[in-house]
Amino acid sequence: ETVPLTGAAPAAVLRDEAREIAERLVREAGVQPRLVVVVATEDESTAWYVRSITRAAAKAGIACDTVRLPSNAEAAEIRKQLAALSDDPSVHGVILQTPLPPGTSAADLAGAIAPEKDVDGANPLSLGRLAAGLPAFAPATAEAVVSLLDAHGIGLAGRGVAVVGRSTVVGKPLAHLLLDRDATVTVCHSRTADLAAATGSADIVVAAAGRAGLITAAHLAPGAIVVDVGTNPTEDGGLTGDVDARSVAGRAAALSPVPGGVGPVTTALLLQHTALAASRAVAGHQ
Ligand code: NAD
Repeated sequence: ETVPLTGAAPAAVLRDEAREIAERLVREAGVQPRLVVVVATEDESTAWYVRSITRAAAKAGIACDTVRLPSNAEAAEIRKQLAALSDDPSVHGVILQTPLPPGTSAADLAGAIAPEKDVDGANPLSLGRLAAGLPAFAPATAEAVVSLLDAHGIGLAGRGVAVVGRSTVVGKPLAHLLLDRDATVTVCHSRTADLAAATGSADIVVAAAGRAGLITAAHLAPGAIVVDVGTNPTEDGGLTGDVDARSVAGRAAALSPVPGGVGPVTTALLLQHTALAASRAVAGHQ
């Protein structure tokens, strides 16, 4: 029987943690933590994701605003907006939502987000600090994978973890977080010659490729633990992961569902990071 690694309970714990910090800051300093999401796309699934952050923020006592820029905004305009938010003392967390206008680069633009407000670890400085073992906000999705495994009591030290995907937002930062937890990490990608060999010898497989149904039973050792980061749109307007859940059922010891696995933990971590950023900002002003 494959155990579902659900995210609702760990997400609720993180939101409660954020809410406690938020309530204390309001009570003691008159400051409510505030997150601002910058959006420069008409993309429907982005709009859905931003609404889910806004709803979760309300539950955690965190203010959340969206700044909308045109979907053909120039890089300079986006950078100016991010710099203004970085300078605004009433703002504690800034997220630059993807996709971005054609011809702009997320890694380049995110350099304009002040590192102390970079709650989704998008500034290249944050990834560099993470890699160097220095304190920084990790990209929430990467951290969510580790939080989800922790919440379900799955140990990492000494175990083999295959990460499928090497993006700057998920695969690379996740590899660093896993190394920090003493896992033995293999990072696979689109040019990996024999994916099934790499994933098939791992204790834990994390799928973050953005390819529906990529991971099947043939990719897994019996009893493997599988975390599915993929969020691929389906024809009926839903979401499906990178793992063929029907194929791996019975072979995997555990699998995180999509939706309902990594996603809610990711959102909750953005709020927890915002609460922490606000708390540090208040402490810095005293
Ligand atoms: P990306 O497109 O930037 O990177 C995909 C990576 O997968 C690349 O490194 C590529 O080499 C690798 N890859 C592609 N096809 C492959 C194949 N056939 N075999 C092996 N590797 C392959 O995507 P991303 O931004 O890292 O996102 C990955 C997935 O995670 C997407 O489905 C995305 O929607 C999802 N995502 C989910 C959340 C969440 O909160 N749940 C957050 C961010 C991204």
